[in-house]
Amino acid sequence: MKKIVTKFGGSSLADAGQFRKVKDILLLDEARQYVIPSAPGRRFKDDDKVTDLLYRCHKQKSAGEDYQDTFDLIAARYMDIAEELGLHVDLGAALDEVNEKIDAGANADYCASRGEYLNGLLLADFMGWRFMDAAEAVKFTADGAFDAETTNTLMAEKLSDGVPTVVPGFYGSYPDGTIKTFSRGGSDITGAIVARAVEASVYENWTDVSGFLMADPRIVPHPREISSITYKELRELSYMGASVLHEDAMFPVHKAGIPTNIRNTNDPSAPGTMIREEFEEDALHSEPYFITGVAGRRGYCIMDIHKSHVSAKLGVVRSVLALFEKHELHIEQIVSGIDCFSLVVSTEAVKPYLFSIMEEIESFCGPDSVKVTDGISLIACVGRRMVFRPGISGRLFATLGENDINIRMISQGPEELNIIVGVDDRDFEKTIRVLYNSFTRKDQPL
Ligand code: ASP
Repeated sequence: MKKIVTKFGGSSLADAGQFRKVKDILLLDEARQYVIPSAPGRRFKDDDKVTDLLYRCHKQKSAGEDYQDTFDLIAARYMDIAEELGLHVDLGAALDEVNEKIDAGANADYCASRGEYLNGLLLADFMGWRFMDAAEAVKFTADGAFDAETTNTLMAEKLSDGVPTVVPGFYGSYPDGTIKTFSRGGSDITGAIVARAVEASVYENWTDVSGFLMADPRIVPHPREISSITYKELRELSYMGASVLHEDAMFPVHKAGIPTNIRNTNDPSAPGTMIREEFEEDALHSEPYFITGVAGRRGYCIMDIHKSHVSAKLGVVRSVLALFEKHELHIEQIVSGIDCFSLVVSTEAVKPYLFSIMEEIESFCGPDSVKVTDGISLIACVGRRMVFRPGISGRLFATLGENDINIRMISQGPEELNIIVGVDDRDFEKTIRVLYNSFTRKDQPL
């Protein structure tokens, strides 16, 4: 039987009008039996998110300040929704309990989690569905790590009766029952956990955009939406700075082979973005473009280590890498030649250790020179279809050349899923724009 798990983000549940849209969506397909709500988000541009207000209550209480005005703002958000929808749940009692616990010094995670908890109570009432406290099934170990397998067993057990259920997102509990949240945006993870536990046919993640965009709209005006993307591509794009799903939300569903569909609560007929393990039609070149998206990050430096015949000397690269490992520094890229090899690392991360690393390199491998170039951006063109088509990197080089962009480094991933270029920070936005334009141009479809 088809089962759909739906997660609705904060803007999708920000007020009574949005609750009505959510109900319509849920009732439209009877396979939608499980829903994971976020806390009420912004209703307009400068509005507060309830989660932020809850963190503020905790902060004010911890500083010995009066938090009641902040709490009243939160209470009003829920009361407005409950009143407008004519709900029966005893919201007053639930709010009093939260207020008392905050006053008694509850921890920040407990305070923040009440945003989802209270919204879940309202949504369950509005739908006439069962409410299940996420603390009963989403489990963390005593040292705070998410306990995926215990959670999966508990969640599957509790939802095995097939009763339509609301499970609030974002939090779970330690073995002793104390509340713990995921990091911000973590309701995405709860949705994926429930999808895995009930072996859903699809995990629908409802938000306020009709899917992921091929590039950052602050850089590229009106970028196209991505209709299909693989989990691997998504990882590449989000690693390179595209703000997409919570990174940890991909694991449970990816592992279980469940597709994720990003949908728009304000435009429910739009198909959104489908994320899958793979797409069979790829080999047929059915999609219009050979790249799926372009994303990038600033703030890197390139360290060039020159030493003649370094490529012939065993162990030099390993020793240098060990130095970075000692300082727990991640290396983004390694490029090597006959007399030189280069490492790309985050400038901010390496800064505190730069001097000692240079000294150590000096003392044990006696390089001819070590040069550090700061102000580098890495930009990735990601696309699973690149592998089917020669000429992609040619187009990329030509485009950057024509636009006077100097490439400081280039690397193609082993799976031909991405091509990464390093450029000067000042060319960051221009590079993203010209690559996007080049690969989505109609006159020369690649
Ligand atoms: N409400 C939480 C946040 O604002 C979690 C979520 O919305 O996913 O981060």
